Amino acid sequence: MSKPKIVLLGAGYAGMMTTKRLMQNLSIDDAEIVLVNKHNYHYQTTWLHEVAAGTIDPNRARVMISDVINPNRVTIVEDTVEKILPDQKKVALKNSELDYDYLVVGLGFEKATFGIPGMAEHALSIQSIDKSRYIRDHIEYQFSSYHNAENPKDELLTFIVGGSGFTGIEFVGELAEKIPELCKKYDVDRNKVRIVNIEAAPTILPGFDEDLVKYARRSLEDRGVEFKLGTMIKECKADGVIVGDEKEEIKASTIVWTGGVQANAILGESGFELTKGKVNVDSDLRAPGYEDVFILGDCAWVMNKESGRPYPPTAQIAIQEADVCAANISALIKGNTLKEFTFDNKGTVASLGGRHAMGTIFEGKKLYGLSAKMMKHVIDDRYLFMLGGAGLVLKKGKFKPF
Ligand code: FAD
Ligand code: NAD
Repeated sequence: MSKPKIVLLGAGYAGMMTTKRLMQNLSIDDAEIVLVNKHNYHYQTTWLHEVAAGTIDPNRARVMISDVINPNRVTIVEDTVEKILPDQKKVALKNSELDYDYLVVGLGFEKATFGIPGMAEHALSIQSIDKSRYIRDHIEYQFSSYHNAENPKDELLTFIVGGSGFTGIEFVGELAEKIPELCKKYDVDRNKVRIVNIEAAPTILPGFDEDLVKYARRSLEDRGVEFKLGTMIKECKADGVIVGDEKEEIKASTIVWTGGVQANAILGESGFELTKGKVNVDSDLRAPGYEDVFILGDCAWVMNKESGRPYPPTAQIAIQEADVCAANISALIKGNTLKEFTFDNKGTVASLGGRHAMGTIFEGKKLYGLSAKMMKHVIDDRYLFMLGGAGLVLKKGKFKPF
């Protein structure tokens, strides 16, 4: 009898960690494993705001898949998924087609623009290595253009960030660190540069701990970030945004949209039943109606039964889902009982650029400043360790104890 074939779509946190765990749980005779990804590298989505601001090199945020997944054990396919055909147990790729016995979908997120006119066309987004590197290059080009123009326009040095969720806040923190370096490089007066973060809610990081929100806002304002709170972006144009009920126009040559994310559109295009764009998975992480399809990470809608709301899409939950998914596929192959997924929230720590950070760990303990920053590095490096051991931590890791 031929071995069952497990196909994983997307080499993000969910896809990479499920592959690692399957390699541990199953022997080479138990199953064939195929991992499909758009690129031959995996990237740290949680570092993309740093790539976009130019505070880390894009290569630091990516890892060649074959450096951490043994290609003799797992077939790595570099291709783009176009559609899933779950009733036929097939996946259509740009250059070929795959069939499967078990499918794991970890295709991540896309920017959500909520139909705001011009947003999809004119705003940049922190979404992949390529898009983040483009933002970095675009920002530097504005400085160079300003420096070289005879009568430069002020908007060349106005950087609008739409949305003060965690992505927007982490990005403006990095920008606040990077701008002085760019000012020095291009002989630009720092006072000419504006970083404007626009948020529809009356506060940054809506819903997060009030003390930490206050701390983050002060830290960012001290480093020159301007906030426009309670201000909804109504339209995005090539040269600025229109905000609020008065339709005020703010001119800028750079608009980065961090106003929200949605699951990969391939889910809907493949006919899965959706809840707010995601698949409302069963407690064992399978797609309703499909016993052989698991949906993970930012593509999955997982309810928090205590709050009655879905868990926010994070790397933390994607990694935990990977463990349960791999255990459940192994159980299906070996005829064992499946596990239920329960999320163990270990807290939230956000970088604010440079040595600044804040967050909560271990059921509400608050961290500020350097201790929060060190904790953020520990979290990042823990993931690198799980992915590629001590070697990967030494090569790419953030924590510098000395
Ligand atoms: P992803 O990590 O997005 O991976 C999806 C993979 O699928 C990618 O490799 C992509 O190239 C590939 N792919 C997509 N489409 C196709 C296709 N059609 N064909 C083939 N391959 C495809 N969460 C935290 O817990 N902590 C943090 O500190 C944190 N910081 C963040 C900072 C930023 C700037 C951002 C944007 C997000 C952050 N998050 C954080 C959220 C976290 O990054 C996501 O929830 C997480 O990446 C989801 O993991 P995933 O595996 O579902 O998808
Ligand atoms: P988000 O949905 O969390 O935040 C988007 C923000 O944009 C919200 O505050 C919203 O009110 C605002 N907004 C929406 N429409 C607007 C408009 N028209 N005008 C002005 N403001 C508008 O999205 P995100 O920040 O990209 O985060 C996505 C996910 O990634 C979340 O689950 C988040 O927790 C996670 N994340 C976590 C970390 C971390 O743990 N350090 C860092 C980044 C992202």
